[in-house]
Amino acid sequence: MNRIYLDHAATSPLHPEVKVAMQDAMDAYGNPSSLHRDGRKAKDLIDQARELVAHELQALFAEVLFTGSGTESANMALVGASLGNENPSRNQILVSSVEHHCVLNTRPILERLGYEVVEIPVDREGFVDPDLVDSMMSERVLLLSIMHANNELGTIQWANTYGSIADRYGAIYHCDMVQTFMKGVGHVSGAQLITISAHKINGPKGIGAIFVRGGTKLKPLIVGGTQERELRAGTENIVGIAGFGAAIAVRQANVLDLKEIRDAFEEKLIHIGAIRTVSSRDRLDSHCHLRFPGVDAETLLIRLDREGISASSGAACSSGSIEPSHVLAACGYAEQESKECVRFTFGLGNTLAEAHVASSKIAEVVSSFG
Ligand code: PLP
Repeated sequence: MNRIYLDHAATSPLHPEVKVAMQDAMDAYGNPSSLHRDGRKAKDLIDQARELVAHELQALFAEVLFTGSGTESANMALVGASLGNENPSRNQILVSSVEHHCVLNTRPILERLGYEVVEIPVDREGFVDPDLVDSMMSERVLLLSIMHANNELGTIQWANTYGSIADRYGAIYHCDMVQTFMKGVGHVSGAQLITISAHKINGPKGIGAIFVRGGTKLKPLIVGGTQERELRAGTENIVGIAGFGAAIAVRQANVLDLKEIRDAFEEKLIHIGAIRTVSSRDRLDSHCHLRFPGVDAETLLIRLDREGISASSGAACSSGSIEPSHVLAACGYAEQESKECVRFTFGLGNTLAEAHVASSKIAEVVSSFG
């Protein structure tokens, strides 16, 4: 049975060209900090990848640092900026209530550092109202963190507007672009800090990057050597970094158009009674987030898995029990409603034919729920 993978927002398959680039990088065994030829060969690989990231983020070469994941980059943004803050009257941090856990779960650390963390509410579709952000801002705010697009719903936020609002109050704006980097939804120009990750664009897992605009005060979370401008110590993951660079090059050469595939898929399911959680307002072309009234999403996902379809829900499994999605809770969904939601996300390799096969199979499975 050919499986149909519709979970690209969770992670995406490694592209064959990325795999080759990573295999080649394994031969660059030198330490990039060494001055000899072997070291320089490894350093060149890092420099090439950094150049590609910088180009895509419209950043300077020195403004891009490699990290171990998107999670680490976001931790570095929030905790690093809090540690680097030299103005004690800036003691508040604003985050949207639909941020990824890599932002929201920094809260206890930030509170221990003396910061008040305030969550910004969202509307029913996960949008953060810029006027509300403006009304919550003050000179007390050190940092504002609002993601570019939500990983569950696909909702695209007004990132550049938040950036200008933060700027007016002299605050730092951190934008989590993990779901939008190289997804054709434009550039975030007003952020001092940007988080990205390789494995959402057919690159390897366990490698991320952070954009740190020149002049942004940040302290490292990992200390030791002088790597990554002394902001992230440790001998670099050359294979991962080379893979990240290769993934960017692959994306540059293949513009993805997923809208037609996603729309065809979605239309069929709406026809059988599924409800879209996000209207046609700004959302990622890769995302289809649906509620199937009367259908338990976890059971549906297990049955789809057996039918060869991979998808997911926003629910998290912690300590053996299923926690409902914090994103849907923030959007005002009752627990029961949120347990009826499934996310299908498209990416490189998905075809229109697959979309038709998958939606027919899903419709069949859904119809068997009493
Ligand atoms: N931010 C968003 C919006 C994400 O979707 C993810 C991963 O799912 C992350 C951050 C974390 O990235 P990583 O898996 O590289 O730690």
